[in-house]
Amino acid sequence: MILTQVTVARRFEPDRCANCFEPLPASYEHRPWLFCSVLCRETANTVRYWRKTSRNGQFEADPEVRQAIGIRLAHMLAGGYNADTRRIPVDVRALVIERDRACVKCGGPGEEIDHINGDSSDPGNLQLLCKNCHHAKTAEHLVPASDEQSDRIFAMLVERVIPDIPAQLCDDELAWQAIERQLRSERLARVRPAKARRKDELNSMEMLHPRMAPSPSADFDEDDDDDRDEHYYAGFGENSHYVKE
Ligand SMILES: [Zn+2]
Ligand SMILES: [Zn+2]
Repeated sequence: MILTQVTVARRFEPDRCANCFEPLPASYEHRPWLFCSVLCRETANTVRYWRKTSRNGQFEADPEVRQAIGIRLAHMLAGGYNADTRRIPVDVRALVIERDRACVKCGGPGEEIDHINGDSSDPGNLQLLCKNCHHAKTAEHLVPASDEQSDRIFAMLVERVIPDIPAQLCDDELAWQAIERQLRSERLARVRPAKARRKDELNSMEMLHPRMAPSPSADFDEDDDDDRDEHYYAGFGENSHYVKE
């Protein structure tokens, strides 16, 4: 029985990582915006998925959801699932589907593209699998957590998944997506001066030497930033079985 409630509800501190509260670098280019690292972003993502599925009954009812969370936690303990480098370009996906046509293990319907070994998205390192064969392959590679790791997961469960009021703002499975957009805009506005200066420099270079001016990098294009955010969140999406939402 818990006698004292020490968590501060929905904790968030501007310019600190929304997951671990380490200070964020004051840079317009820092990614992922509100987190210090991809690992922290994925950790918060996992907490929200765990909260959502344990409240809507999926966690209880669907073994695949429990397995998906187990795999996410395993990736987290191993230092993170490298969703960004493992992203498969659309044309490569099409090529692998065309080449393999069905699950290369059992001949069933091909549902997911698997990285055979490591992160490379070269077609030679990719294969088409059915969901079952993909799960089985991933499960083969799981190793038991140490006592210390199990304690960390248990603490996460007790502190961040079980409480009805999310302990951290980034744990809020209902509101985070909308709040995150707003917080990110606010943060970009705070670190924007460097960007505005750079744009002025580019403009004056353009006027003096039209042909020598470098083109502004994609990092300075806000619309592009938004696209990138979508692909960050696709980490456990389309080409993996880790999410069944
Ligand atoms: Zn962090
Ligand atoms: Zn199969």
